[in-house]
Formats: sequence, C-alpha cells, structure tokens
Amino acid sequence: MKKGKKDIRALTKEQLQEFFVGQGDKSFRGTQVYEWLWGKGAHSFEDMTNVSKETRQMLDDNFVINHIRVDQMQRSSDGTIKNAVKLHDNLTVESVLIPTKKRTTACVSSQVGCSLDCRFCATAKLKRMRNLNPDEIYDQVVAIDNESRLYFDKPLSNIVFMGMGEPLMNYKNVLKSIEMITSPEGLGMSPKRITVSTSGVPKMIKKMADEDVKFKLAVSLHSAIDEVRTSIMPFNANFPLEDLREALEYWYAKTKSRITYEYVVWKGINDKRKDVEALVKFCKYVPCKVNLIEYNDIGDETFKQAPSETTDMYIDALERNRISVTVRRSRGKDIDAACGQLANKSEVVA
Ligand code: SAH
Repeated sequence: MKKGKKDIRALTKEQLQEFFVGQGDKSFRGTQVYEWLWGKGAHSFEDMTNVSKETRQMLDDNFVINHIRVDQMQRSSDGTIKNAVKLHDNLTVESVLIPTKKRTTACVSSQVGCSLDCRFCATAKLKRMRNLNPDEIYDQVVAIDNESRLYFDKPLSNIVFMGMGEPLMNYKNVLKSIEMITSPEGLGMSPKRITVSTSGVPKMIKKMADEDVKFKLAVSLHSAIDEVRTSIMPFNANFPLEDLREALEYWYAKTKSRITYEYVVWKGINDKRKDVEALVKFCKYVPCKVNLIEYNDIGDETFKQAPSETTDMYIDALERNRISVTVRRSRGKDIDAACGQLANKSEVVA
C-alpha cells in the first residue's frame, strides 16, 4: 500500500458522501462510488465508468482499494474447498466452502491468528497478528460465493464465522462486514443465514443483543462445568459460566433467537455422567440446540475423540430432556479445512 493513502473501503457510505460534499461535489457521487466498491467489486478507480476521469484521478490521489487475493485453493475428496487468502500486508488467513446437497456454506475468518487459547484448536497455536478489516471479511465471502457458482452451480447460501479468530474480539469490524454482506449495496444476503460463533465473551454478547442484530449466535461450550472448561479453554477463568449464562439469557430476552451450543466430547475430559448432567442443566436456561462436533485431531495427545457410546449417552440424555441435538460430521479433514484445523499450514516451512 502506498504511504499516506487511506483504504477507501474503510469508509462508511455516509463518510464517503461527506467526502464528496467536502470536495464540492454531490453526495450522490459518494453513493455511486460506494456501489462500485462493494456490490460491483471494483478493483480500481479506472473501473468506475460512470464517474468522470478527473474524479477518478482525484480518488486515486487520495485512496487505495485493498483486495484480498486467493493465493492457494485446495479441494477435499468430499468437495470441501479451502482458500488460503493473502491480505494487502502479505499476512494469510483461511476460509472454507462447505457444500451439501441443500446448501453451500462459507466459513470465514475474523482475525489473523486468534486472541484466545483453546487447547484443542490449531488456530490458537498461531499468534494473533491483527484483526481483519470489514472489507477483508466481506471479500472472503465474495470469493467463496464465486467458487460456489463456479463449482456447484449455485450461489452461496449460508455463512458461519467459524474460521480463524474470535469474532467478538473483533466486534466492530465483524458487525460492519455483516452489514455489508446483508445490505442491498453489498451481497443482499439474509442475516438469518449468518451465524456468528463465539467462545463466549459475555460483555460482547450483551452488546450485540442491545444492537438488535438479526443473525444467529453459536457458542463453543465444550463443557458446562467451570473447572473442566477452564482446563481446556483457559480464558473461561475470566469469563465463568455464570457470566456466560447471564449474557445468554439477556441475548434471548432481547432477540428471541435460539442459541446453538457447539460441543466436542473428548475421552477422559468431558465423558462422565456428571458432564452430561451439567450440559442438560445448562441447556435449560435458554432455548437452544446442541451441535455435537466430531473432534479433528491436531496432534495433541491430551485430546482424543470419545467413542460413539459416550456420544450416544449425551444424545440420549439431551433427547430425553427434549433438547434438540445434531451430530456434525467433520468435512474437509484431508486438507486441514475442518473445525479447529485452520493454521496456515501451507505457509509453515518444516
Ligand atoms: N472463536 C470462535 C470461532 C472459531 S472455532 C469460537 O470459538 O466459536 C469454530 C468451532 O470449532 C468452535 O466451536 C471450536 O470450539 C471448534 N473447534 C476448535 N478446534 C477444534 C478441533 N480440533 N476439532 C473440532 N472442533 C474444534
């Protein structure tokens, strides 16, 4: 990026309109340029054919348009696609396209690395380098939408913020990206098809509820016992389950939107009856469903997937208590694209 020039996509529509008014132009010019930058995906000011040459030059003197670049694309034997995405400062994040019969889902990253330290997650082994900007999140979605059309003959249908990073530790930019993904100038997608997944940052969950957001919330729970949860997700010591519970009750009271709990069952960690009972109890606080995720090995001896009898014990107990439960099979394992496996491996030189 040239020094001194601002990333034009960091501006809101209103800021862009104000910029043009400040230049003695009409605010409408701001709207025009905004549409080029987002919905039409312009990569250069030259592309903006309904804007005068002088204006395009003036923009070029003041701003840059940053875009991500899909550096490497890998395809799994099950159809899953993983993109290694280069950012303008040469850092890399990964995003994943997960196709099923009915839908295609984009799994996008919100940070380079991660702020948190979940022991079972490969991304946590990377240092958190920086937050992604709204346009960098948006561009991941656009790239996957294009791949979905190209390889599966249909547009992207769903988005999950389950790639690298903790979305609620990059709150402002994640919300801004969703605003663009859902706005008519952007991709015009319904917020109901977007899920933000968090390890559970109570203060931010409440803030989100206050802002009347319309997307869905998933919480990576993995244990409903503080001691166990802290041992596998150390930040839980600062945000204990009681605070999480209170935030989730607040979220539901405001949004009336059911929460999904993501949960992996590990051998020797959360495979006892008391773990199951604690989860059932936690599930009764707020309307929810449980998504049992298959563990993807990241080469740590401490974590091994529990046998199916243990998972069945969870399913039985949840169903008996009328809590809806689904088992999510892992996708894209052979290319390290499954949950918790995103670690920029293509970059690591042995
Ligand atoms: N930071 C956010 C989003 C990223 S993780 C969050 O924690 O929700 C996306 C999901 O994958 C989370 O539910 C996470 O707990 C889970 N996960 C992490 N490592 C995993 C692994 N090795 N196997 C299976 N799931 C994993």
